[in-house]
Amino acid sequence: MYKAKAYAASSPSSGLASTSITRREPTEHDVQLEILFCGICHSDLHQARNEWSGMMPTVYPCVPGHEIVGRVTKVGSAVKKFKAGDLGAVGCMVDSDRTCPECKAGLEQFCPNFTLTYNFPDKHTGGVTYGGYSDSIVVDEHFVLRVPSNLDLAGTAPLLCAGITTYSPMRHWGVTKGSKVGVVGLGGLGHMAVKFGHALGAHVVVFTTSPGKKDDAIRLGADEVVISRNADEVNRHAGSFDFILDAVAAVHDINLYVNLLKRDGNLTMVGAPAEPLPVGVFGLLFRRRSFSGSLIGGIAETQEMLDFCGQHNITADVEVIPIQKINEAYERLLKSDVKYRFSIDMASLKSE
Ligand code: NAP
Ligand code: ZN
Repeated sequence: MYKAKAYAASSPSSGLASTSITRREPTEHDVQLEILFCGICHSDLHQARNEWSGMMPTVYPCVPGHEIVGRVTKVGSAVKKFKAGDLGAVGCMVDSDRTCPECKAGLEQFCPNFTLTYNFPDKHTGGVTYGGYSDSIVVDEHFVLRVPSNLDLAGTAPLLCAGITTYSPMRHWGVTKGSKVGVVGLGGLGHMAVKFGHALGAHVVVFTTSPGKKDDAIRLGADEVVISRNADEVNRHAGSFDFILDAVAAVHDINLYVNLLKRDGNLTMVGAPAEPLPVGVFGLLFRRRSFSGSLIGGIAETQEMLDFCGQHNITADVEVIPIQKINEAYERLLKSDVKYRFSIDMASLKSE
């Protein structure tokens, strides 16, 4: 075991502060990374403040962070994919049982015995896992991704959650050239969905509550932008979408979007508000529409997404901050005031 620097929340209302945590020394299949950048996902905020207490109560101290890019500092004797000095990346999962049907299908995110990167029982230490708001992390090589060499690292970190969470459902629901795709909420996830939809050749329509994001949406690859508080403007698109991805972190009216789907169209929820969202069933019955959810993506697909980003030169639009600005960043996230992902420069942790 060794000591690592980190930022942790000590209670739902404490905010985050500098601390020291214990990590395991790399075992034979492990990779140790010096963390260079870590994105700030809205899930970090939900979890740090125990907003998902019903589903996944937070264990304190909580070190969030699951959009990790780093430099390999050490590898175990059996590690094949990485050597010291390589770049490596870690997303939302650090382990799974690798024997269940989900793991065998490459869908580790649905493994009943998976381990999330933070706030999850840690089989090695007996405590909980600690995430990427830290100077280093130790992860089994199966859950460490290769980073394309041409991408900016600060903008690559958010691909590990915001990227795969939007790429995976688009691939699953067959978004392709000519599809009409809606993206609801232009935040960290939403802006990646716009980039992927555009790269896949779809006609992308952004639904935003923020009129000030209109120009950005077009620059990011949207073909049209709709201010979602204007119901008339929204309803003009009734019955026309193949696929809509909803990435909103708060309770809102999803029936508005169900009604925009074509026959057999799908609305996938990736946003994770803590409260239930009422669904009007008639909207689904007519036109055989479906409403579903999606959780991050498997390891093979995460690598596919990173390679796709390398080929298409796709990264997140980031505002790079020092870790000392984390609490301010959370407040801005709540106001939808980030363009479009915060990425923490972990060199800032050295001075703590
Ligand atoms: P984010 O950057 O805060 O973006 C959320 C966006 O939702 C905002 O930028 C805003 O966009 C819109 N929004 C916020 N409040 C709203 C409201 N009251 N009504 C309508 N729209 C509102 O968050 P994120 O990091 O992208 O995460 C989004 C959600 O996805 C979170 O709940 C997070 O926990 C969840 N998540 C799920 C997965 C998964 O695997 N399913 C993975 C990662 C994150 P506009 O300004 O454009 O309206
Ligand atoms: Zn996330």
